Order: sequence, then C-alpha cells, then structure tokens
Amino acid sequence: MSYSYDTSHDSPNYTPEAQARSVFGQPRVIKGITIHHWGDPSTNPTFEGVRDYLCRKNGNTSAHVVVTGTGRRAACIVNYNDVAWHSGSAWGNARTIGLELDPRARDEDYDVAAEVVADIRSAFGDVPIYWHSYFTATACPGKWDPARLDELSYKKYSAAEWGKGGWKAEYDPTKVAQPTVPAPTPVPVPEPTPEQQVPSPTATPEQGGGLPVTEKPDYSEENNSLLKQILSIVQAIFDKLTSIFK
Ligand SMILES: [Zn+2]
Repeated sequence: MSYSYDTSHDSPNYTPEAQARSVFGQPRVIKGITIHHWGDPSTNPTFEGVRDYLCRKNGNTSAHVVVTGTGRRAACIVNYNDVAWHSGSAWGNARTIGLELDPRARDEDYDVAAEVVADIRSAFGDVPIYWHSYFTATACPGKWDPARLDELSYKKYSAAEWGKGGWKAEYDPTKVAQPTVPAPTPVPVPEPTPEQQVPSPTATPEQGGGLPVTEKPDYSEENNSLLKQILSIVQAIFDKLTSIFK
C-alpha cells in the first residue's frame, strides 16, 4: 500500500459485533462503505485531532478509519467486524464501514481514500459507497463526490496485506449507491394566455403569421409592445427599399 496504515489508536466508541443485533436490530454484515468529511476545512481540523476526538472516552461518535492525503495516512480506530457509530442510521452503522475523510477533498485525499476503498473491497467484496447524507440530513460529506472516489478506487490495486491482494475490478457506475430521495413532482406548465398566442410576423400563414408588412397591423391595446416595435422597424425597412427601387 502506498499509505501508512496505523492501528495503534483504538476508539472505545463502538458496538461489538456480537451485540449488533440487539442494539441495531440486525447483524453486523458489511454491505457498503459510508464516507464522511471530518468537518469544516476553515476550522483547520487535523488528522491527529480528529483521530483522537473519535477515540475519546465516553464518546457517542466514531468511524472505522480516518484518512488524509497529507503524509498519505490512514488510522484504523475501530475493527471492521465491530459497529462504529457514524451514520445516524441503524442500517448504515450495522452494514457499512465508516471512513472519515479529509474535508479539503484534494487530489491527494482522493488518491489515498481510493486506495483505502480498494483495500476494503479486496477484503470484504465489491461493496458500494454510500455517503453520510444518504442516511440522514447533514452537510457531510461536504465536497466529497462518491462517484469520483468510486471510479478512482477501481484504478487502484489492493495491497497484499488486505484481502486477496492485487484485486482490480472494472469500474461499474451502478455500484455507487443511488439516493432514495424521490424525484420532485414535475410542475405543470400553464397554458399560454391569449396575449402570448399572438402569431409571429415571421411565421407562415399556416402558422397564423405572415401578416403583409405593407398593411397596418390591427393589434389591440393589450398586444405585445415589442412586437409592435419590430413591425414598425420592418415597415420602415420595407418603405426604404420601396423608395430605392422606385
Ligand atoms: Zn459524516
């Protein structure tokens, strides 16, 4: 692997695998990866600060891995077989691996995170990537694009230390989890008002246009004033041409 993988810090904030069913109503089965950003970049959170915060005593949040492109580092703070507390969803916690990613989402952050994803997939199967706001209303994961991370991960070979090693699948965009948010109801387009149905002067007679420009158009007061201006300009040009070719 081309990043350092640190397992020397352990978070006490997790549910052991054996208790997953009683706590979350379902067993610990790894069916996906959930990505997070670890906060607002403007507050300059650090990799060490976030790692240590998630490892605090009596905390109520955690993740499995904290990742940054700075120094190409990943810290695994909860074992994958145990349930970390990160998604705000029983399903998301019980069924996914939580990654806390550098919120700057720089190219180097994508590069390391993609390799971590490839390694996880080599060990646990070609599972889809979810994102925190998939499960609950939150700004997390901020600038992170799950589809970009997913695509990049398929260009990474897994390290031999994880899973089978050397694994590489073809990119399949359908593997990125699709949001379950229902599509918005289409807004009906209102019928045009009679004023909007004034035929264009450039339209053919069949289309209701083609008014002879030598005749004064008989538009009532409510008709479009712009159309009147256009017609007067056309009339002026016609008059000019008529006088030239007399
Ligand atoms: Zn999050």
